[in-house]
Amino acid sequence: MKNYEKTGVLSNNDITIPDLQYLKRGVAIVECIQHIPCNPCVDSCPFNAISMKDINDLPVVDFERCVGCGKCISVCPGLAIFLVKIKNKKALISLPYEFNPVPKLGDNIIALDRMGVNRGSALVKRVVKSGKTSVITIEVDDSLAMEIRNIKV
Ligand code: SF4
Ligand code: SF4
Repeated sequence: MKNYEKTGVLSNNDITIPDLQYLKRGVAIVECIQHIPCNPCVDSCPFNAISMKDINDLPVVDFERCVGCGKCISVCPGLAIFLVKIKNKKALISLPYEFNPVPKLGDNIIALDRMGVNRGSALVKRVVKSGKTSVITIEVDDSLAMEIRNIKV
């Protein structure tokens, strides 16, 4: 049984974590666990880095092909795609965000983990508004690269 089936919350044991070499380059992390008919992530990638066997299967990222462009983040209706880039002991995490207010560049906001627990402050480094789903890039300590998956403004 997967961890999330016991706890209701995804953990790092439930997903494929890229090697550090890919995390340093910047790479998409797809935290999609439900076998539902959905595939906009596959169609959105200009580099054919996301694939699935059939539309009900789970998407798989080819970390070799992914260039970390982030185009797949805002198309996911499940808000399940993140971009992580590790540099100089910091992690840049790009995440989908659909609440208001949308944070602004330079804001200090609260970084939340998958459980919604406050894990400290994060600096907003980039804001891209795309329809109802904005993509917010925050900077946190690199130890939190695979922990922070939401924000509170
Ligand atoms: S970040 Fe860009 S290259 Fe990587 S999977 Fe997403 S769309 Fe493709
Ligand atoms: S678009 Fe999102 S929810 Fe749909 S298959 Fe891709 S990752 Fe999963």
